[in-house]
Amino acid sequence: MPHAVSRLRDERLARSAKPFLARGGSTREKCEGCRLPRTHCLCASRASVPTRAGVCLLMADIEPLKPTNTGWLVADVVPDTFAFGWARTEVDPALLALLADPRWQPLVVFPGEYAPPARVVHEVPDDGAKRPLFVLLDGTWSEARKMFRKSPYLDRFPVLSLRPEQVSSYVLRRSRRDDHFCTSEVASLCLALAGDARASRVLEAALDVFTHHYVKARDQLPPDWDGEAHARLREAR
Ligand SMILES: [Zn+2]
Repeated sequence: MPHAVSRLRDERLARSAKPFLARGGSTREKCEGCRLPRTHCLCASRASVPTRAGVCLLMADIEPLKPTNTGWLVADVVPDTFAFGWARTEVDPALLALLADPRWQPLVVFPGEYAPPARVVHEVPDDGAKRPLFVLLDGTWSEARKMFRKSPYLDRFPVLSLRPEQVSSYVLRRSRRDDHFCTSEVASLCLALAGDARASRVLEAALDVFTHHYVKARDQLPPDWDGEAHARLREAR
């Protein structure tokens, strides 16, 4: 069964007037499971980890079509991943139903400085009855800000703002050059905060594996199944 992001991609493709060609659009045949050329398919290493938390991706229009969108990896790892296309003028009734579902506690993940202080939290509330549902705004920074400002149905939920020390320890541990995170990295951080440590590590490693295969495919070199990225993923699983 294709996951939420895969289904959203198919819906979005069906609405396209002309076939979407990614930058550097390759004609090599792609795997439906991981979007990579069949020669670099990583589906054999895909891992799903049961979690207490769920993830709800609100995706800017073109986002599900981007070959590098990492919301796809979130949906690979976290069984309860939901994905919706975002539009300013309309909202999917299924999204509203999910947000109103009493089993979930939605938390909008966004920098606290853009929200009224009363809404901002830095920890995942420990509500035994409800599972945390991380609402991630998946798009460019300007699209994400627009989604945050123009989605009144999100206004009643707490805004989970990652603390600078959480961000900087992640940057250090991952030896990154900057703190602009992609969607799957934000999801990893959120899962760790929610106590879903294993899923957090698997998702981190899955991003490394995806990046490795993507780069090797681009450079027309074989992926290294015994390399560092795969070793990390095997360990995390
Ligand atoms: Zn594949």
